[in-house]
Amino acid sequence: MHEMSIALNIIRIAEEELRKSEREKITAISLSIGKLSGIVIESLKFALEASGASSRLSGARITIEEIPAKMKCLNCNHEFECDDFYSICPACEAFRHEILSGKELVINSITIQ
Ligand SMILES: [Zn+2]
Repeated sequence: MHEMSIALNIIRIAEEELRKSEREKITAISLSIGKLSGIVIESLKFALEASGASSRLSGARITIEEIPAKMKCLNCNHEFECDDFYSICPACEAFRHEILSGKELVINSITIQ
């Protein structure tokens, strides 16, 4: 599962932060995930909780918010929000676009106590 390997990477990063801080426990992790990233938020949350259970991430509050997908039409320069890669421009109906946002995976914060 794609989300499982992402979860393991996030846990590794969080544990590295914990090690550097020389404290006890990770209490919260906040992430933002682009709508076009291909990551299913619920699956990632589940994977983080499942694989974090045996680590010092156990019991941490995991918040994941979705970053909306935005495109820019290369025909008329109109910028618009979309649901997938196959959206046409609502202004001119062209199908030539560049993706401005929606593919990212961002760790906003790791709270350590
Ligand atoms: Zn357009």
